[in-house]
Amino acid sequence: MRFDYHMHFEYGEYDETWAEGFFIAAKSHGLDEIGISEHTHTFPEFEQLYYDDLILDSSPVGKFQRGWLKTNKFKHTLKDYFEFVARLKKNHAVKIGIEVCNFRDQAAVKKILDAWDFDYRIGSVHFLWGWGYDASKLIDEWPRRDLEKIYDEYAAQVELLAASGNYDILGHPFNIRLFKFFPAFDATPYLERVAAALKKSQMAIDVNTGTLYRYPVKEISPYADFMKVAAAYGLPVTINSDAHQPEDCGKFYEEAVEYVRGFGYKKILRFDKREREFVELT
Ligand SMILES: [Zn+2]
Ligand SMILES: [Zn+2]
Repeated sequence: MRFDYHMHFEYGEYDETWAEGFFIAAKSHGLDEIGISEHTHTFPEFEQLYYDDLILDSSPVGKFQRGWLKTNKFKHTLKDYFEFVARLKKNHAVKIGIEVCNFRDQAAVKKILDAWDFDYRIGSVHFLWGWGYDASKLIDEWPRRDLEKIYDEYAAQVELLAASGNYDILGHPFNIRLFKFFPAFDATPYLERVAAALKKSQMAIDVNTGTLYRYPVKEISPYADFMKVAAAYGLPVTINSDAHQPEDCGKFYEEAVEYVRGFGYKKILRFDKREREFVELT
């Protein structure tokens, strides 16, 4: 079976016409089911957590992020989201998920999430020390930082997400490669730390084609070195496009299937109300 569980409606509205494009693209890739994974910055319930965690001072990073928080954010409640997906379910095989940022206060996150019946929850590292490292407008910040410290902090943030028990899937592992700042040091200890943390909390990985078509690195995440470690640890996989536009749903799915097969994977995880089931990869 084929599923794509990572996509966002945030550049459209919650209307059937916008969603329809995702279903059309899904069909063209032979997907049996799709799952929506709205960012937490879509929902006012999470707004304060961003203001608590992000750099918002007068530095270039702070200035950019203050503007970012005021642009196309916090526009639907979780209730709106569940009602909209319930409408879509009448005609389509669709799951409801969420992609949650690595907030410091995971107890507060748990309170919000536990009130809703998600099919799965993706936890993603999007911020390091309050800096949104994946924003192309903030790329100047990269050479100002020690890359090994970035790897260390990335691993620490995954450990925090995993230890919370709040998540089923780690989003786009090691997408810190997205702007092609590659380590000259041996990254193995960081790969091992991340894999061990995921194993302990029984989290799967999001094999994400978004970094193949949306970022300069042009490779599927996680990269091969981590895939080898993930396979050795027996971490389950999901395969996802991280589509932000309807036509990107399922994009490079076929390539991603071949990619994970190359590391020995034969099964993929399916979710329903956070219950997991292994199904054959096709
Ligand atoms: Zn993400
Ligand atoms: Zn995403």
